[in-house]
Amino acid sequence: MNEMNQKDFSMEVPRQFYADATDKPFEHCQVCGKYLLAEGTSYVVEKAIRSYEGHEFYATAYEYAICTGCHQDIQKGMSEESMRKLQEYYNNFLEKRGQQPLVIDLRTFDLDSWLSRCFFSGEDIKGMKEYQLVGQFSGRRMLMNMPPLVIGEKVIEQMAGLLSDKTIDEMNGFRDKFLGPSPDIEELIFGKRLLLI
Ligand SMILES: [Zn+2]
Repeated sequence: MNEMNQKDFSMEVPRQFYADATDKPFEHCQVCGKYLLAEGTSYVVEKAIRSYEGHEFYATAYEYAICTGCHQDIQKGMSEESMRKLQEYYNNFLEKRGQQPLVIDLRTFDLDSWLSRCFFSGEDIKGMKEYQLVGQFSGRRMLMNMPPLVIGEKVIEQMAGLLSDKTIDEMNGFRDKFLGPSPDIEELIFGKRLLLI
């Protein structure tokens, strides 16, 4: 069990957000190389998980940690239209929830169960071909006031459909530069799949 901290609404970096290569928390920003585990250093971790046809088996297709500064730079590269549409998508979703506030009780919070469903659609990740995990961190802590999200395959498609060609080009540029080619990555995110939120 991860130690919870009611005061700062954070928890230790959970295994689900470890780097596959080291089986430990990410240590450096994928873009600028900044050390991330110093207290107060904020960053985002994103992982794309996919299943393999005919196997009860999930593997990471790509993963990275990126410091907040670099993350903002990348978002600046997104067209205003794309940003506005993603914002609208999110606002729509919140409206559909009937303005219910997102309540997380850290005393009873179960991360595995939280991460077993798409944040937006509520669909179970079981049976999905792919999904993405996104979490916000500060040093060695995962922030729970901006809780980690699972984005399911349908929502990935919907969001990708909102992005402009210019933004998709930017995302591909990021991929080529920092994630490097691999057959899985090509298959998963070539075109319009890489979402930075
Ligand atoms: Zn950075």
